Amino acid sequence: MNEPFRLSTEDLQHIVMSLQQKGYEVIGPRNSDGVIVYDRIHSTDDLPAGFVDEQAPGMYRLAKNGGTQFFGYTLPPQSWKRFLYLPRRELIAFDKDGKSFGVSHQKDEAKPYAFIGARPCELKAISIQDRVFSSGDYLDDGYLSARRRNFIIAVNCSHAGENCFCTSFGTGPEAESGFDIALTEIVNEEKHFFVAGAGSDSGKSLIEEIGPARAVEGDVDAAHEVIRKTSDAITKSLDIAGLPKLLSDNSDHPHWDDVAKRCLTCGNCTMVCPTCFCSTVEDATDLSGKTAKRTRIWDSCFTMDFARVSGGNFRISAKSRYRQWLTHKLSSWVEQFGVSGCVGCGRCITWCPVGIDLTAEVGAIKGGVAKQENGGS
Ligand code: SF4
Ligand code: SF4
Repeated sequence: MNEPFRLSTEDLQHIVMSLQQKGYEVIGPRNSDGVIVYDRIHSTDDLPAGFVDEQAPGMYRLAKNGGTQFFGYTLPPQSWKRFLYLPRRELIAFDKDGKSFGVSHQKDEAKPYAFIGARPCELKAISIQDRVFSSGDYLDDGYLSARRRNFIIAVNCSHAGENCFCTSFGTGPEAESGFDIALTEIVNEEKHFFVAGAGSDSGKSLIEEIGPARAVEGDVDAAHEVIRKTSDAITKSLDIAGLPKLLSDNSDHPHWDDVAKRCLTCGNCTMVCPTCFCSTVEDATDLSGKTAKRTRIWDSCFTMDFARVSGGNFRISAKSRYRQWLTHKLSSWVEQFGVSGCVGCGRCITWCPVGIDLTAEVGAIKGGVAKQENGGS
């Protein structure tokens, strides 16, 4: 990161205004009916000042703590992927005109988005989706267009949630790359400010335009202390050594039957995951039969139709669907894209209605392997 600056809360408001004047739609965290959502913000008044979240397996609760911190919550259910990789995207439309029809293809429709409040693990998730959508034979023009014009202000984490395990993957709680500006929020009895650094030329010019004060040594030390305390507060972990092989070698492990007894195959885990990218295509006509549209929508490997092919369905059971998801995420994803499909954000644990925790499931499989090696299990 470049030279650190000290941004006041007014400076942050100037940044929001400047981004809007440059044509960005500014998206940030807001409190909406008791949950943090990423949505359009008009000013820093829209940020969820004083709100903190409590998370546990299958549990989320947002509460006001009477403070002033803008970014005191951990992570919301939604991730930034819903702006970069739209949940519904029209691909092609047909309009009937007499006996012929016209065809229109959906082109670069993305707005230039400025994100405020991206967490370090979320930056990593975006970099993973960059690989998915910009490599191989099939590039996603909508995603690439959104990313080309995307400005990101990251905020280092000041509160670890019970389900966070970013430290296992080295993806948090401090942002190292993938941002234009990174902030650490400092709030104490006397002061509320941000230690800021630029991560790109555009971030540097925006900071120069606002002209904040240089950070002094004590500010930088305070920022390091926030990150150190957050890191120390992370209690959940996943042992990733040899994980891809562990899962690919254990497709018949008895623990998959145990998870299948609990898993509802609702697909929540895939919807909230910031890296999951499966989609399906839906064709529909209007009632008059004059227009037809082909739309790409998010799909999940947990839905019954996902593995339906000519001749049958090759993943009928809950066991096969959960195993597919976890094994892809933590094992075959590495083979496919060169990185893990998990960044340790913990969303799938919080938003699983029955509180299935992938770190515990992997631990059970690992434990079972150890027992098998000792002649047990
Ligand atoms: S693991 Fe949980 S969130 Fe995922 S499909 Fe099963 S019940 Fe739903
Ligand atoms: S698998 Fe779960 S913990 Fe990992 S990135 Fe996806 S939602 Fe987050």
